Amino acid sequence: MKGLAGLVGQAQAVTALRAAAVKPVHAYLFVGSPGTGKMGAAVAFAAMLVCPNGGDDGCETCRRVFDGTHPDVVVVEREGAALSIAQAQQVTRLATRSPLEATRTVLVLPDMHLARLISPALLKTLEEPPASTVFLLMAEFVPPDMVTIASRCVRVEFRALTEEQLTGALVAEGVPTERAASVAALAGGRLDRARLLAGDPEMEARRRAWEEVPARLDGSGATVAVLAEELLEHLKRSAGPLASRQEAERARLLENNAERVGTVPSRLAQSAMRAGTSEQDERFKREQRRQRTDELRSGLAALARAYRDRAVAGTLPAQQAGEAVRLIDGLSADLAFNLGEQLAVQALLVRLDRLG
Ligand SMILES: [Zn+2]
Repeated sequence: MKGLAGLVGQAQAVTALRAAAVKPVHAYLFVGSPGTGKMGAAVAFAAMLVCPNGGDDGCETCRRVFDGTHPDVVVVEREGAALSIAQAQQVTRLATRSPLEATRTVLVLPDMHLARLISPALLKTLEEPPASTVFLLMAEFVPPDMVTIASRCVRVEFRALTEEQLTGALVAEGVPTERAASVAALAGGRLDRARLLAGDPEMEARRRAWEEVPARLDGSGATVAVLAEELLEHLKRSAGPLASRQEAERARLLENNAERVGTVPSRLAQSAMRAGTSEQDERFKREQRRQRTDELRSGLAALARAYRDRAVAGTLPAQQAGEAVRLIDGLSADLAFNLGEQLAVQALLVRLDRLG
């Protein structure tokens, strides 16, 4: 599965990156919806850029890039809605330092569409890095304040996957055809999400819980509180499959590290054992945040559908249903920036309750 060859449904991006790896420029911008394989492609491309043999050879260098333990391939995780000054300084420092082992440093910056307020110093580094540094920027879309940066990068587009592509990929991974097809329909063009849902026995129950909200709201604050609690409990439990996957990944990393501990001097054994774990933790946190947001968005979409269905069935005036859908979509759009999920869901239910 590793390497560009394992990237599902992105033939154009794969062709572009294979060509780019031969003579890379200083910055690439991968644009596409979440779950379209940008990060996987970035890691595979980074491996091609630092591997002495151009990648795809399964060598020690490539393996460490894929494990997240190669010192010249660094993923700079963003915290909060903006790149902090400390992070901007870290990027500049990493970009201007000489590679430690390879002939290049590759800096991967995820979620740049959320990185408001990019400092002039960082902008300058992004525009004129040393020749040995390659930037790989990831963004779901290009907001107006990113246009300047985007214009300095070679842009690589990642497309949402079709249901057929998602189904095909899941079936190839051993998911029964019927299950694969039903999960693909709910995954919003995203393979990462389709994979999680395919192994999630509670998916249907969660969707029903959201769909039943309009029927259960009864004008009482107590009901709103109960519903909000139930929905958030579902949200919490929905993290289970991702947590299991991450545990397995951590176990694999530690196993790999343990194999190498014997090859380093004993005073370095402890740090060799922990190699890559803090980077992995950062990525895990990002995946967990994303999973919560995705799950909440899926729930809100089911809720909006329930209101539309009621309007179609004539059990709710179209204007009220329209207003409900507007409120729900508003929260959904804010989720990327909103960390107070519990309050946001409660506030939404209160407002929906008042409509009906
Ligand atoms: Zn290699």
